[in-house]
Amino acid sequence: MNETAGTPEPKPTAEPTVLQSALRGLACKCPRCGEGKLYAGFLTLAPSCDRCGLDYAFIDAGDGPAIFIIMLAGAIVVGCALVVEVKYQPPFWLHAVLWLPLILATTLLPLRAMKSLLIALQFHHKAAPGRLVDRAK
Ligand SMILES: [Zn+2]
Repeated sequence: MNETAGTPEPKPTAEPTVLQSALRGLACKCPRCGEGKLYAGFLTLAPSCDRCGLDYAFIDAGDGPAIFIIMLAGAIVVGCALVVEVKYQPPFWLHAVLWLPLILATTLLPLRAMKSLLIALQFHHKAAPGRLVDRAK
C-alpha cells in the first residue's frame, strides 16, 4: 500500500497562489519557477529563464512600476519636506541636501522589485493586450 495515501503531494506544475507569485516577484525571480533570474542588468530583463526556459518576451510592465514608485516616493518626500519646513524653516540648500538622497533612495531602491512584482502578477493573471475575437465563426 502506498504510504502517502490520503496526503496527496502537490503537483509540480500546480499554479502558484497570488502570494507565491508576488513573493517571486519581490525576490526578482522567474514568475513561473521562482528560481531563475529575471534580470540581466539593473532593470534589463534576461531573454529567458535560466532554469525553466520561460521566454520573457511576453513581459510588458510598461510605466506601471514607475507610476507606483512616483506616487509612494512623492508622498514620502513631500510629506517629510513639509514637516521639516513647518517645524524648522531650514535654508533651501539644506532641503536639497536632505531630500535629494531621499528621492534617490525612495525611487531607485524599490524600482527593481516593483517592476518584478508587476511582471509576476502579469504572469499570474495571464494579463495581455486585448484582442478582437471573431464571434461569427
Ligand atoms: Zn523559470
